[in-house]
Amino acid sequence: MKNVPEIFGSMVFNDSVMKARLPKETYRLLKRTMAEGKRLDLSVANVVANAMKDWATENGATHFTHWFQPMTGITAEKHDSFISPTDDGKVIMEFSGKELVRGETDASSFPSIGLRSTFEARGYTAWDPTSYAFIKDGTLCIPTAFCSYGGEALDKKTPLLRSMEAINKRALRVLRLFGNTDAVCVTTTVGPEQEYFLVDKSVYEKRPDLIYCGRTLFGAKPPKGQELDDHYFGSIKPRVAAFMKELDEELWKLGVLSKTKHNEGAPAQHELAPIFTTTNIACDHNQLTMELMKNIAKKHDLVCLLHEKPFAGISGSGKHNNWSMSTNTGVNLLDPGETPQDNAQFILFLCAVIKAVDDYQDMLRVSVATAGNDHRLGASEAPPAVVSMFLGDELTAILDSIENDTMYDPKEETLMRIGVHVLPKFPKDTTDRNRTSPLAFTGNKFEFRMPGASLAVASVNVVLNTAVAKVLEEFADELEKAEDFQKSLHDLIVRTIREHKRIIFNGNGYDDSWIKEATEVRGLSNLKTTPEALSHYTDAKNIELFTSMKVFSEAEIHSRQNIRMQNYCRVVRIEARTMREMTEKQFIPAMSKYSKVLADTIISKKSVFAGIDCTFEEKTLERLSTLTSEAYAKVCELKALLETLKIIKKDYSKAAFFIKDEMIPCMNALRTTIDEAERICAAEYWPVPTYGEILFSVK
Ligand code: ADP
Ligand code: MG
Repeated sequence: MKNVPEIFGSMVFNDSVMKARLPKETYRLLKRTMAEGKRLDLSVANVVANAMKDWATENGATHFTHWFQPMTGITAEKHDSFISPTDDGKVIMEFSGKELVRGETDASSFPSIGLRSTFEARGYTAWDPTSYAFIKDGTLCIPTAFCSYGGEALDKKTPLLRSMEAINKRALRVLRLFGNTDAVCVTTTVGPEQEYFLVDKSVYEKRPDLIYCGRTLFGAKPPKGQELDDHYFGSIKPRVAAFMKELDEELWKLGVLSKTKHNEGAPAQHELAPIFTTTNIACDHNQLTMELMKNIAKKHDLVCLLHEKPFAGISGSGKHNNWSMSTNTGVNLLDPGETPQDNAQFILFLCAVIKAVDDYQDMLRVSVATAGNDHRLGASEAPPAVVSMFLGDELTAILDSIENDTMYDPKEETLMRIGVHVLPKFPKDTTDRNRTSPLAFTGNKFEFRMPGASLAVASVNVVLNTAVAKVLEEFADELEKAEDFQKSLHDLIVRTIREHKRIIFNGNGYDDSWIKEATEVRGLSNLKTTPEALSHYTDAKNIELFTSMKVFSEAEIHSRQNIRMQNYCRVVRIEARTMREMTEKQFIPAMSKYSKVLADTIISKKSVFAGIDCTFEEKTLERLSTLTSEAYAKVCELKALLETLKIIKKDYSKAAFFIKDEMIPCMNALRTTIDEAERICAAEYWPVPTYGEILFSVK
């Protein structure tokens, strides 16, 4: 491998390339556009486009694409080549400012329920100059936002950029109150830790459920799972190491700060963590990481599973969204700081997050709600569906002391007065962190652990950014009017702690007693499934949140709710059909075949002498026959449910609840039956690789 600093960012049209290749004035104007989010003048865009094209073709690119993130799926691209014909029958490579800045695309194949009348199928993509262009597979990729002709967001990036602007404005107002005059912008930062499974291609290809659904729909527990923790601590297998090495190199070329790689808890499970960066870029990079993981795995005859829960009974894969706020001068606003003044500012921003999470706990749950994640949340491996925050004992004690004006540390007789006392140091230690908490404060950032592995993190950061922006606005409104800033600040903090401390929970989130306390005593919401969560998307207070912060219009919210309900229905419907097909075409025939073998054995044994003991054959045959009939009955039921679903299909919300209440229980019952059959069926008759064979497929 070439040395890392040399390859890092070598496929990115980044700042140093721009500086080297653009005329000074163009560079200056482009930087200003990037910093201020202004529109780029077409004459400037032409110069940038030309320089980009030259750089891209020198690096082997022949095509360009507006790279965007539709509401479903990972990313979308439509490739155009740079070629442009000349009079003499040849071609030259061309790329105009217009092509760089704005692209037209047929929006009809992307979800846009309610936002686009059918006669206006066009959408457009608009360059996001804050995210650098890059070359992937010989194509210059230009990160873009994707909107309908009327300007409504049809993607994940547009609302994210809007939410970044929303929090920037309000955080700056609050900073000014603390006398900060040098920061010109506040961005949020994200470091998404990505979990994934790697399995051998040969076993994957024999599992229709993995192929169609990305997860196993059947499968009895293997004799060995993750109970020994030996995978986590074990060395990385050579094939996996080779995959990780190539992945790192390709990510580095694209300027992705891939930093940490290791095995995870379950067999065949691994994790990659990048160094955090600005949220918008972190989200783009995470999409790229997922795409590269899938593609590079194939080259190694592996398959990368990004599903939230590929295997029942084995830990699923999450994506930890580490989130903080930072000024352009590099101050992390969730870092407690050293002086009483810094501490006071920290406590206020912390309170803003506490209130935001409490006020919009349902929206945070909505942001991670997918059919796949429903199998993971609350399954004693991932946080429960109840949103709460972990602050750690020290910080919680400090908040207590502030709220009640009591001693923080009785021995030392320390009172905690905002803006007067220095906060005691609390350990940033990572060892005693509470892994069961959905949202944990980890010293200078929050780690949101509810997102599933395949989720585009834009969705959770839109909610975090917007909810915190909203609260910061309320705080700024109140404090800007204050006659005595210190006193008002103190009152505001005390009030916020008092009103919102119910969301703080440092105990074991996997405990059933917590769910009871959370819902019955504290009144926190427990939205167990995607349809239940999504129905709160359009609650009045959530519509007010997004419209007042100018992140979504009301129409956009309704559209997104519908699209996600529809997506939930589609995902589960594919699973149901796959179950039906596997049961009818593979499992029932296999069960019959083995039954026949057992029956034949009984007959031939008895032909030797009638009184021979056939207990095993008879009992197994009997049980297998019962299971076969049960499986058949369940499959018939499932087919009838799929027919009913066809009728209500267009009412996505109704269909989603029908699926949750009727179809999923039937699917679960079918699975239980088949899994028992797998356990008693002879190995050679079982038509698909078992859990053990899949999970331990990479040697
Ligand atoms: P873990 O023990 O969970 O692996 P680390 O402390 O190593 O955690 O960090 C996890 C992730 O948090 C990394 O991606 C890291 O870059 C990111 N991170 C650290 N500081 C911040 C921050 N201020 N904002 C956002 N993410 C951050
Ligand atoms: Mg983590």
